[in-house]
Amino acid sequence: MKAVPFLDLRAGYLALQADIDAAVAQVMDSGWYIMGPEVETFEANFAVYCGAHHCIGVANGLDALILSLRALGVGPGDEVIVPSNTFIATWLAVSAVGATPIAIEPHAQTYNMDPAQLDAAITPQTRAVIAVHLYGQPADLDPILAVTRAHKVALIEDAAQAHGATYKGTKIGAHGDAVCWSFYPGKNLGAMGDAGAVTTNRTDLAEHISTLRNYGSRVKYVNEEQGVNSRLDPIQAAVLGVKLLHLDDWTEARRTLARRYSAALTSVNTPHVPDWANPAWHLYVVRHSKRDALQQTLAAEGISTMIHYPIPPHLQAAYADCGYAKGVFPLAEGFADDMLSLPIGPQMSHADQDRVIDAVNRLASTL
Ligand SMILES: *Cc1c(COP(=O)(O)O)cnc(C)c1O
Repeated sequence: MKAVPFLDLRAGYLALQADIDAAVAQVMDSGWYIMGPEVETFEANFAVYCGAHHCIGVANGLDALILSLRALGVGPGDEVIVPSNTFIATWLAVSAVGATPIAIEPHAQTYNMDPAQLDAAITPQTRAVIAVHLYGQPADLDPILAVTRAHKVALIEDAAQAHGATYKGTKIGAHGDAVCWSFYPGKNLGAMGDAGAVTTNRTDLAEHISTLRNYGSRVKYVNEEQGVNSRLDPIQAAVLGVKLLHLDDWTEARRTLARRYSAALTSVNTPHVPDWANPAWHLYVVRHSKRDALQQTLAAEGISTMIHYPIPPHLQAAYADCGYAKGVFPLAEGFADDMLSLPIGPQMSHADQDRVIDAVNRLASTL
């Protein structure tokens, strides 16, 4: 039987091949290979898409987070509150600027930041909060913003999985001080290599980040501060510009698949969607107490699944010295043991999905 891939990246290219090839060829032919019109056009279009005043293209999502923290003045001695359950990049950005990641447990149903836990974790050293829109589900931004505003700390949104998601009817992209995007190929808006961006309504942050990403320089060979080289590649910007035109359609295809899964799956715990959330469904994550056995039996039927994420950041060797022992974050640790991401993507056929549904229902109930 034909295998069901977790995500068919090549199908995403083939669907738009002629337009992507033409856009890339135009950059090749232009003789201009750093910054330039493709980058500016994509930045302008993505800002409009997100409902943000500014978009600054950068090299990847991790740099988007690092440069946002730097632009906000976060550094050594500062604390930044992060989720206990996230991709490690959220924590790495905090460590990269010399600040300390302070982790809090998520809301048990939404898996996203819990405003009550956030309020309790703020100290005089807290400079910023990074809320992650995990799996493409928007975090509960209004109560989170109420906490950050009351304590006068910045809110950064890690939107690497949330392109096109809406919170109370408004697109993710400008609620917090800075919103950080990854265009890693597997993301909902994916380049054909590494790419990222920051969107923001704050002109001061936009100017600072665009200076930092380019050697700390606004005027060539005049360096105001010690910046980095983290520019959005124009070839990637050209690809992203083509794909952006199809993002809403592709998000709707994901939403249809998510609705079909949630209606049909009977023997696994399916995602809870609050009524104010319209997720982008970067991932469709179910839970089952015999997760590993379920994953293996699905694989034996040719169905690929993934685990996001098998080891929470505080238990990684990279954070061996962070002071968080095993057991301190039971929710994050439990998710690592029982969560399974099922195949989902804009090119996935409903026939393939029906095979996944049939296999999960049949196997999960007997394990
Ligand atoms: C992908 C991802 C990142 C990092 O993005 P890169 O472009 O790979 O650097 C950060 N945070 C989250 C939640 C992600 O999923």
